[in-house]
Amino acid sequence: MPRVAVIPGPNSPVEIREVSEPQLEAGSALLEVELSEVCGTDVYLQQGRLQGVPYPLVPGHVSVGRLSKIRGQISDVEGRIFREGDRVTFLDVHRACHACWYCLVARAATRCPHRKVYGITYGLDDGLCGGWADQIYLKPNTRVIRLDADAETFMAGGCALPTALHAVDRSDMAIGDTVLVLGSGPVGINSIMLALMRGALRVLCIGGPDNRLEAAARAGAADVLNFAPHDESERCAWVRERTNGRGADVTIEATGAPDAVVQAMRFTRDAGRVVVVGQYTDHGATSFNPHLDLNQKHLDVRGCWGSDFAHFYRGVRIISDPVRAAPWTALATRLSPYSLEQANAALAEVANGSVFKALILPRKS
Ligand SMILES: [Zn+2]
Ligand SMILES: [Zn+2]
Repeated sequence: MPRVAVIPGPNSPVEIREVSEPQLEAGSALLEVELSEVCGTDVYLQQGRLQGVPYPLVPGHVSVGRLSKIRGQISDVEGRIFREGDRVTFLDVHRACHACWYCLVARAATRCPHRKVYGITYGLDDGLCGGWADQIYLKPNTRVIRLDADAETFMAGGCALPTALHAVDRSDMAIGDTVLVLGSGPVGINSIMLALMRGALRVLCIGGPDNRLEAAARAGAADVLNFAPHDESERCAWVRERTNGRGADVTIEATGAPDAVVQAMRFTRDAGRVVVVGQYTDHGATSFNPHLDLNQKHLDVRGCWGSDFAHFYRGVRIISDPVRAAPWTALATRLSPYSLEQANAALAEVANGSVFKALILPRKS
């Protein structure tokens, strides 16, 4: 019987349950999980801070494993048919309909009201839909991608890679721009690496704690600042000293703190661009001066919600390229493995930032 690690309800510790193996529908598959990840979203799921979560829930929305059973035929986006034993990952978003107004007219599938997300909006009642488990049931029309890259290297990007890729796309940064990244968690660090790949001249990073800033520097940040001992005006001065007094050309906010959005606006040069990608949970309101912080600055501020198949696919392609994957290969040494039974410890350490990224290895004893 497959084991799953379940969050029974908001603010309840994770518990291990055994469930029966699912019956496979045509076009579905069973994935034997090798690695799944623990991200900030999982911490908020456990704390009950996201709305509309169908508890009990098996977290783990980005995972790697082997296809152990396939019912009927499933193929990838290039038409290659999957075989049992193939090593794969899959897009966590399922059922974006490609038929509604948001999918077809706005071309914003991440706002499709029909989309469901494995490990977040699919609960245990929907089947084996989370990665903190021996197996995941891949429902029909799940977008599966063959993974040739090393599993740890892929997980060094994990869910943060497509999220950051979307944010860098949204920033429309130009070759030679100076980019400021606020936040040094996984999304911030992936944003640094992708901004450099996109052609940024330099990336500055304000974040913390120091172990994460060290990772940011290794990821290619030209200069880093720990936000904790510096107030807003000191942070602003630090950015201006490094940008000829103007501020960053582009700022990517990846912190989760509402105030950081306003600071992102203030640390960006006039007629620059801000992308907000760090506000996946409602941490409350903040205030800004519409004249000084936005209009007079002629600022372009863009939200960035989730990621779609194109972001995920391009991320996997980058990770699978031996040259381009180098920054992620280096980062992979910073992953911390936990067994299913250690899921509560993994959540606690992600919550306090003491580990860069925690992985769940169901086969770890
Ligand atoms: Zn995540
Ligand atoms: Zn739709």
